[in-house]
Parts: sequence; C-alpha cells; structure tokens
Amino acid sequence: MYNISAKNFVFAMSKENPPMLTVPSGSTLIFETNDALDGQIRSAGQSIESLDWERVNPATGPVAIEGAMPGDAIKVMIKRIDISGNGVMAAIPGFGVFGDETTSASLEVMSIYESHIAFGHGINLPYRPMLGVIGVAPADDPIPCGTPGSHGGNMDCKKIAPGSHLYLPVFCPGALLAMGDAHACMGDGEIMGTGVEAPATVEVEVELLCNFTIADPLLEADGFLYSIVSDDTLESATKRAVANIRDMVAKKMNLDNNTAGMLLSAIGELEICQVVDPLVTVRFGIAKEYALSF
Ligand code: CA
Ligand code: CA
Repeated sequence: MYNISAKNFVFAMSKENPPMLTVPSGSTLIFETNDALDGQIRSAGQSIESLDWERVNPATGPVAIEGAMPGDAIKVMIKRIDISGNGVMAAIPGFGVFGDETTSASLEVMSIYESHIAFGHGINLPYRPMLGVIGVAPADDPIPCGTPGSHGGNMDCKKIAPGSHLYLPVFCPGALLAMGDAHACMGDGEIMGTGVEAPATVEVEVELLCNFTIADPLLEADGFLYSIVSDDTLESATKRAVANIRDMVAKKMNLDNNTAGMLLSAIGELEICQVVDPLVTVRFGIAKEYALSF
C-alpha cells in the first residue's frame, strides 16, 4: 500500500513531470486530493476576485507504473472515494453553459455527510462521490489538468466512481498517473462548471496491461463498457466514441460493421460527461458482454 500526499501535485500532465513514486503492477495506492480550486474557497461570503486562477485543478501525483511503455494500457480499479471536508460550488461570469448571462458570481459552501449533502435552501443532495480528473502524461506537449483528452485528464465522467475500472492508454515510460477534482456529487454536463468540489481520499489498484493499445480511455461501470472521448464538438466526440465501441463489438461478436452498428443502434447508451471544459466529453457504452474480450 502506498500513500500519495496532496502535497505532491501537478497543474499539467506531462512526460517531463518527475514521478514522485514508482510502483509495480498490482499495487494499491491511496491518493489524497485537494479540491479543484485548491482549497481557496472557505466561505460563501468570500469574493470571487480573491481566487487565483493559476491554482485550479491540482492533480495529485504523478506515480509511475513499473515497466509501462507506449502501446500498453493501465487499468485503474477505483476502490473507494471518501470525500473529506466541505463541498464548494460556484457560479462564475463567463464560465459554464450560462457564462454569458451570469453577471455576478455566487459561491456556496456545503456540509457533506455520508447520507447526503446539505445544498442549502432546504435541499439535500445524494452523496455520489466521483473523480473529475484522472489521467496519464500525454504523448506530446503538456496538457493542463483542466483539459481532457485521450490521456484522460478533466473528463468529468460521473461514472468514474467507486467500483468502476478505468483503462488509460500509456504514452510515455511509466505512464505517470495523477488524479484530482473529486466531486461529492456532479450532474451530467457539469453545466455551471463546478460539481460539489471537495478534497478526497481515493484508493485505487493499478494493473499494467502490456501491448494493450487503446486510442481513448475505456470505463467498465454498472455492467457496461464505455469509450470516453473528448473533442471539439459533441458530434465529433460521439462519432469517435461510437467507432471505438463498434470496433470492439465487431471483433468480439464476429460481426461486420453494419451489423455491429445496428446492435449499438438498438442497445447502446450515449451520454454526455461534460460540456464546460476546453473540449467536450461524451461516453458511449454497451453491455460489456458484447464488447469485452479481456
Ligand atoms: Ca472538472
Ligand atoms: Ca470540478
């Protein structure tokens, strides 16, 4: 068991980041993560001008996986996400789906319990912890932790939650796994740009899958296998995510592309992860028995 303190963090995923730890495949890791605003919001009365935007989306890590090389994948089994501390949310001018019509900022600080989140205004929310940011170093230039991509990053997929298994492509030796941006609860789309942001303790087990080449992250969750794709538009992200799953289904079930496509057209699930980061993210999935050959 390895503990990774929130004091070890990066603001960009990069193959130039030195790993703070190298672990063998099969290791259990416990990451302490700060909230996406790096703990800067302490009260609802605080002014938005007091926030330093250079300090957003810290990801704890990176951790190198021994022997991981480009063309491999790492499987990250999410065992537990325990939220610690209060949750914060914000409405910020210029940010999110309503950024153009949000004229003044609002901040909220919420108490979080294992049974619910006290949203205020007499409203309780379900406690549904998930991870917004999780990824590896990309092949080329560094990518800020606020941006998603084929390396993972800020995918804001609410199904990256306890019990799910995430597969990430490896682009550089060691993979360089990092994570952060936990939410006590987040809706599909993350429409205002924040979920219920909170620090967390995240327990994962990592496994190296050699010569396991994938173009984009895959997620096993709730009996489904999803391809998670981030791109400039929902349409282009959708096409890539569907193609990734269609290719797996065609191979596993020995179907031609038209037949595999019809199967996906009958029982596939297309869902939006987020529409507020520098790229948008969708997930497309099918019951895993049709797609998983590993
Ligand atoms: Ca996020
Ligand atoms: Ca967030």
